Formats: sequence, structure tokens, C-alpha cells
Amino acid sequence: MKSQDIRDKFLKFFESKQHLIVPSAPMVLKDDPTLMFVNSGMAPFKEYFLGNADPKKNRIADSQKCLRVSGKHNDLEEVGYDTYHHTLFEMLGNWSFGDYFKKEAIAWAWELLTEVYGIDKDILYVTVFEGSDDDSLDVDQEAYDIWKQYISEDRILMGNKKDNFWEMGDQGPCGPCSEIHVDIRSADDKAKVDGKSLVNMDHPQVVEIWNLVFMQYNRKANGSLEILPNKHIDTGMGFERLCMVLQDVQSNYDTDVFTPIIREIETISGKGYGKDDKTDIAIRVISDHVRAVAFSIADGQLPSNTGAGYVIRRILRRAIRYGFTFLNQKEPFIYKLTDTLSKQMGTAFPELKNQKRLIENVIKEEEHSFLRTLDQGLLLLDRVIENSKSETISGTKAFELYDTYGFPLDLTQLIAKEKGYTIDEAGFNAEMKKQKDRSRAASASETSDWVVLKEDDTEEFIGYDTLAVDVKLTRYRKVTSKKEGEQYQLVFNMTPFYPEGGGQVGDKGSIEASNGEVIYILDTKKENNVIIHIAKNLPEHLNDTFRAEVNEEHRRLSASNHTATHLLHQALRTVLGEHVEQKGSLVRPKSLRFDFSHYAKVEPDQLQQIEDFVNARIKENLPLEEQRNIPMQKALDEGALALFGEKYGDTVRAIRFGQSMELCGGTHVPNTGDIWHFKIKSEGAIAAGIRRIEAITNMAVGDYFETIDKEYQALKEVLKNPNEPVKAVENLQSENADLKKQIEQLLKDKAKNVKGDLKNEIVDVNGVNFIAKKVDLDASGIKDLCFELGGEVDNLFAIFGADNNGKALLSCYISKSLVAEKDLNAGTIVRELGKHIQGGGGGQPFFATAGGKNPDGIEEALKAAKNYL
Ligand code: ATP
Ligand code: MG
Repeated sequence: MKSQDIRDKFLKFFESKQHLIVPSAPMVLKDDPTLMFVNSGMAPFKEYFLGNADPKKNRIADSQKCLRVSGKHNDLEEVGYDTYHHTLFEMLGNWSFGDYFKKEAIAWAWELLTEVYGIDKDILYVTVFEGSDDDSLDVDQEAYDIWKQYISEDRILMGNKKDNFWEMGDQGPCGPCSEIHVDIRSADDKAKVDGKSLVNMDHPQVVEIWNLVFMQYNRKANGSLEILPNKHIDTGMGFERLCMVLQDVQSNYDTDVFTPIIREIETISGKGYGKDDKTDIAIRVISDHVRAVAFSIADGQLPSNTGAGYVIRRILRRAIRYGFTFLNQKEPFIYKLTDTLSKQMGTAFPELKNQKRLIENVIKEEEHSFLRTLDQGLLLLDRVIENSKSETISGTKAFELYDTYGFPLDLTQLIAKEKGYTIDEAGFNAEMKKQKDRSRAASASETSDWVVLKEDDTEEFIGYDTLAVDVKLTRYRKVTSKKEGEQYQLVFNMTPFYPEGGGQVGDKGSIEASNGEVIYILDTKKENNVIIHIAKNLPEHLNDTFRAEVNEEHRRLSASNHTATHLLHQALRTVLGEHVEQKGSLVRPKSLRFDFSHYAKVEPDQLQQIEDFVNARIKENLPLEEQRNIPMQKALDEGALALFGEKYGDTVRAIRFGQSMELCGGTHVPNTGDIWHFKIKSEGAIAAGIRRIEAITNMAVGDYFETIDKEYQALKEVLKNPNEPVKAVENLQSENADLKKQIEQLLKDKAKNVKGDLKNEIVDVNGVNFIAKKVDLDASGIKDLCFELGGEVDNLFAIFGADNNGKALLSCYISKSLVAEKDLNAGTIVRELGKHIQGGGGGQPFFATAGGKNPDGIEEALKAAKNYL
């Protein structure tokens, strides 16, 4: 069965069980501070499990792109070494939100595996939670009793809290789970070792394929459990592992999900897969990592130096390094795999096709720059090895290579070993631990449980229509962090505060109690669909009614910049072409930033056209046309631009200003005229194929012009108020250039004259034509002088000193014939005489120069010169 059919069959099966089938959510999470990437199928549905929002249907199924490379689930170091863990993988899942529970979940899982896919019952094992003393929980008898209707009891195994109790995070919904494992070893192997003993023992052919989680508890901040009023089902099946079983192969990498990429790597590198362990690991690493990197770039997450971008950069670098070391790839090559990948996965994930060029460009550029870094690191490592007094290289040095050049320990070890050196591994680990502790301490925070004052389902956002309203506090919690100290997060029954999102910063403002007490709202954020207002303290009377007021100017200026980004987006697509896609934005009161895909520098005249285009739309006074709840498809049909990697609902908010129409949740000015003016301040590249424009609008433009005007006036004054200041500066410049030329000529003439005079001062000392003299020339003048004299006078030994604005200079010239005959060396001589001027220098045997700080020593040096003859 082809992988495509395996995925389809899963979705069709759950559709037949009344599940709503939804597409995979983007991999990069935007409103969950505890998670960078979706790491399991349930992550995009967290808000439903937390009760912050209602799902479209209480039964859902999908195939979700997951990435396990950071935080609680991090499989990165396994990937490549084993054959069944990936960085990016698809998780097939079915969900019940307060609807069906264990009975149906187990029955359907069994039906799908054994009847639809036809997996032999005799290769399956299941596990059941054995209970835990820490949490005073008993064995999950309910699950056990259901399982035994389907599978013989000797195939039901007990599992501990680590494997069979699933938790979303330190806090929140959790519960026991049942895993389904397969044993795909040969009959021979099975006869030798009982499969049961290999379950959960990291055996590559006895692996977990599906986990059924029964969410029935909520973990509180103090660690205790409470029973959830609504019980949920959350299941996750590894798609690639399922393909391995159904395609009757022994490794995920032998399924049709991976073989096309592996063939391509074989062609590029000329190395075969399946012949040598190290090569195989490298090929698996690369075939896995290119998927993770390509998908994340398509989702809008580019490699960078911080946060999620840094994680992606590290994955790519790991692949580059394995290619470099084990496949001998010294030039970029991973980007070439994009083509095969997009052909193979492009049907299920069209973003890979649509953004192929961008993905290729970004990967190629990253490869280039990391290969350069690798080269530098290798040189450094050579030097470290050269200077090492013992055969063991210190852990600190190895860590420095890791930290600044991205050299992981194993690479350093490998290279060192080739030269007969080892690395102090304990020292390296100690440095690593120190760094981790430092960053942990910096980001440590503690979040208390919510204190609920008033049950409330939805916290309405009314900030599109009003900036001030009376509100009630429904819940709050305390968050303590090293960075911010103690803060409170407040949730209201409704709010005018816009939470950070869509590139726009969160609103600031205040709430005022009936007794006049004012609490400032420092920032507003959205977390798992709840709007959180951040304050330094709590109001005295929690049940009071508060007047919530958004800081009007902060909001108005943010809105002005937000509308301007839409107009800029339109301008870019008009002036540069339809290939321009938004790749990110930052909208603040004082400025805006817009990142977009484009493959060349934006030329100055294009920038001018773009700016003019936006200002023309501002002049047209286009009114805001907002459609708050229109079906997604209708908006797209009307020509609205949607952003890839953004999570949209079925109904969306569409924002139109004239011909510009975008899906957007941000706040905007009522009329483009309110922007007043738009001014681009810079344009540049931030990655291969990604450009950034920074611009200002509104009051900031006024300030900008005012500053420029002040500078301009000051400049004019300096220039003595000419009528045409630009011309005045140009005149100055050309005058300056003329003067420079004249001075050069004068100096040359002077040197010539000096030469004539000096020639007369040359004396014969033991058959050598000797002169030692202080002159008034600069270094290059002296050099010219030496060589000209040398051309005219044989057997010359000349030494000149000069005082150039307090810097002492000594130059020595010796005819080549003398160098050989008399064993004289200008380099040695200036070095020795240089001591008189407190300096040093060197050069060649026939010409050398020294510089020093003591011009008073020149005479003495010149006097000493004669001693060499
Ligand atoms: P394992 O113990 O094998 O790492 P897990 O306990 O971490 O698995 P879950 O978190 O329960 O797995 O995820 C559900 C399913 O997703 C697993 O049964 C497995 O089929 C699949 N899966 C988990 N991690 C990976 C991975 N890194 N690569 C591919 N598939 C995975
Ligand atoms: Mg795991």
C-alpha cells in the first residue's frame, strides 16, 4: 500500500465514524508560550482541552505535521542512529472533545489496524497504565477490560507512569494511555526472544505505533490531580512507522516516504545506502532533516539566530555536517533535494510546491555560510591541536568550538582522533551544563493556578469598536520570573485591549476601580485563545467593576502602521510582481517592518515607486471596509490575501482599503488619510530571497522630517548659506580632489630636489656609498627616494629618518650586491636601530622600515648606522 493511500484510509475511516477531517495546522505555534513547535497532534487543539474555545465538532481527525527537536519531546540526537525516530513526522490522530471515550477509541483503533489495514493480530501488543503511588492512582482497569475483548490477555502489558501516563505540560489536562506496539521481527528471531520482553526496550523492530490517551484529569500547579468534568480522547499514530509495517519493511527509511530522497542523496554523493554504518547514518540524517527544514521554511519559519529559527538552523547544520564528514560533500548539496521532496509530498502539502524556490534559496545560502564556518573552525581546531601540550584537548576549547562554530563534540572528537588526540569529554560536558544552567536561570518562571472569580465561557474582544468599557475580572494568576519579577495576568469578561498578534504589538492602558484605584496594563497577549492582560499588581477589590481604557495614542499609531503594511504589501505586489509574499511583519506605534520574498535588491527607483504608491492610496482617503465574519472561501474568492503558516478559522475577518484586501485580525485606521504620510527608511536582505523594508508613518514622519530639516539647516550654515547647497558641497569635493592632486605633485617635486641635494652628501666608507640623514618626507616619499637613489648610485647603504607628526620613522636601503657581499640585512638593521625610536619593524634584506613613538631617538639611530660598516 502506498503511503498516500495509507494516509487516505486513516482519514476515510474516521470520517465514516462521524469525525470532521481537518488539514494539518502550521508547525510553528504562535500563541503558546510553553511550546515552539507542534510536537504532537493535540497541540493545535490545546485551547479545546483547556476549555478556552469550542471545537467545530466534538469529533475530529487529521494528519498533523509534528517536530520533536526541542523542549520536553526532543528526538534530535536519536535521528539517523535509529530507524524509527524523526525530527519531522506526521501524526495521524482522532479526537473526542467530551464525546466518546475509551470504549470507542479502543474499538476503532483495533478495527482500523486489524480489519482495514489487515495487520496480523499476532504481531500486536498493547499496554495499560499500571497505576502510580505518587498520584494515588490505580491501574487503568477500565482500559484493561476493554482491551481483553479484542486481544489475548498475555498480549496486554502493564506500563509505568513514564510510558503510560500522558501529560501536556507541567500543568493542565492529562491522563492514562494505552500504547499499541508492533513486533515485525522475523519468525526466527521471534522464536529466540519473546516479543513481550522487547516492548518499550528501544528495539528497532518492536516499536510503538499508536498511543491512545484518555484525558480524564487536570494537573494543578501544586502537582495534585483533579477529575476533569469532560473527558477527552487524544490519539496519535506515527504515520511513517505505520507505513513501515504496512509496506513490510524493517525501517521507516525503507518506506516510499523516504526512498526517493535517499536515492537522490546516493546519486549526488556517489555513496550507496545499506553498505556502511556511518554512511547510512549520514544518509538517514540528511533525508530526515531536509524534510524538517523545508516544511518549516514553507510554514514561514526561516533559520535564524534566535528561538524557533535557531532550532531550524541547528537541524540544517547537523545535516550539513554529516554530509561534510561522512559523504565528503564540501559544497552545498542539500538544497538540491528540495525538488524530489516537493514532487513527492507536494500533493498532500502544496506549500512545498508553491514555495520551492524560496526553500531552495534559503537552504543553499545556509549551506554556503555554514561550510565557510566549518572551514574556519577546522583551521582553529588545527591550531588548538598544534598548541596543545598534551594529547588531550581541553573541554573548554572543545566547547568554544561547539559554541561559536557549531562543532558538536563528536565532530571535534573525530577530527582530533585522526591526528592522535582525544578530548576531555567531562570538561566539555561541564561547560555545557554551565551554559544550560545560565540560560535556565535567566528564563525560569513560575506560574500559579488560575484563581477563578466568575465562571465565564468566552472573553469577548470588543476592541475593534471601542477603546473603553466597564469590565469584570473573571480570573487571574500570578507569574514570577527572573526577568520581570512578580506580575499578574488578568482575564476579563470582555475586553477592548488588542492582544499581540498578526505582527501587531499588544495594547497598553489601564483599568480603574470605582474607588479611583488605577492598575496599569503593561501588555496584552493571547495564550491558547485567552486574552491575558499583564499588570504589576492586583486591584484591591477583585469583584469591583473596572473601567478598562486602552491607551489611545499607542493604539492609533499602531493602527496607522498596520494599515500601512497592507498598502505596502499591495504596492510591493504591484511594483515588483505577484511573486511577493509576506514573510513576517512587526507593527508598533513608532515604526513598521515588513519582510517579503523577492530575489533581488529593490532598486532606488522601485523603492520610490513603492513609497509613492502607498502615499497615493493615503491621499485617496480610502475608507476601511471590514467584514468581520465571512466564510474563508468567500473572502479568498473576493481576492483577499491570506498568509501561509497562519491559523484561520472557517469564518474570517477581511480588511479592505480600495483594492487592498487581506485576511487580518489587527486594528486599522478608519480611513487611509489618517496615516498622514508613509516613508521608507531602509530596505535590505535578511536571508536568501527574503527582503525587509522598515518604514514609518504618521507623527514619526513629522519627527523624521524635522530632524532632517534641522541637520540640513545646520549644514547650510556651515556652508555659509549658499543658494544651492548640493552644488556647494560638490564644489568643495572637487576643490578638495584638486588640492590633493597638487599636494601629491608638490611632494614628488620636493623628493626630487631632496634627492639632488642628498646625492651630494653621500660619502665613501670602506668602499660603500653611505648616507644617514633625517629628512622631511612621509613613508612613501622615503621609499621612492631610496629606490631612486639606489637606481643611480651603486653600492649604496642609505638610512633615512623622519618625524611624521610625532611618529618616528626609519628606513634602510642596501644595494643588492652589498647584501650578498657584506652580509648586510636591512631588516635586521632597522629592527636593531628601531630600539632608539622605541619601535620595531622589518622588511626585506635590501629594504626595510621601522616605526616608533620616539622621534627624539632618530639622530642617535642615524649615528649608530655607521657602525654596520
Ligand atoms: P517513542 O517512545 O517511540 O519515542 P513516544 O512515546 O515518544 O514514542 P508519543 O508521544 O506517544 O510517542 O507519540 C505518538 C506516536 O507518534 C508514537 O506512537 C509514534 O508512532 C509516533 N512518534 C513519536 N515520536 C516520533 C518520532 N520522533 N518520529 C516518528 N514517529 C514518532
Ligand atoms: Mg518519544
